[in-house]
Amino acid sequence: MTKPWIEGRFEENVITTTVEQAINWARQSSLWPMTFGLACCAIEMMATGAGKYDLDRFGAGAFRATPRQADLMIVAGTVTYKMASRVRRLYNQMPDPKYVIAMGACTVGGGPYFKHGYHVVKGVDLVVPVDVYVPGCPPRPESLLEGLMRVQDKINGQRLVKIDGGLTGETPGDELPV
Ligand code: SF4
Repeated sequence: MTKPWIEGRFEENVITTTVEQAINWARQSSLWPMTFGLACCAIEMMATGAGKYDLDRFGAGAFRATPRQADLMIVAGTVTYKMASRVRRLYNQMPDPKYVIAMGACTVGGGPYFKHGYHVVKGVDLVVPVDVYVPGCPPRPESLLEGLMRVQDKINGQRLVKIDGGLTGETPGDELPV
């Protein structure tokens, strides 16, 4: 017996969602990382963006040369005390909502410089708020991609409007505790 032509068509062709979910889907699928590397971990970040690992598959391959066009900061490498205020300034120049991945042992907690590195900040979360930590020395591109997907998960679960108005993901205090 032939099915009536309308039967089942809605389930196959119609997706119901909310405006918030649709916007979050678009936001998580179009992250713009800042072109920014501090040390050896940045080489793995560059490899992640190249053809083999293809960051573009996740919608995050358009590295921007200015923080004003970026919404993702991948801190890849050793954060020295001299560099810390620059990292903070770059972060402040990024528009909200914005996200930070701490990539590598140095960035997460000082890494090999933890004990004797008088010049190294013992964790970039002392300088900027971190959303996802990716450990390793250096982390492989697969690890960075995993970190990126955790950022996407975070975006997917975000509410767009707060009760008192304004977008979520706004910058916390401007103080630089280093
Ligand atoms: Fe270099 Fe290792 Fe530090 Fe990454 S974590 S910047 S690979 S020393």
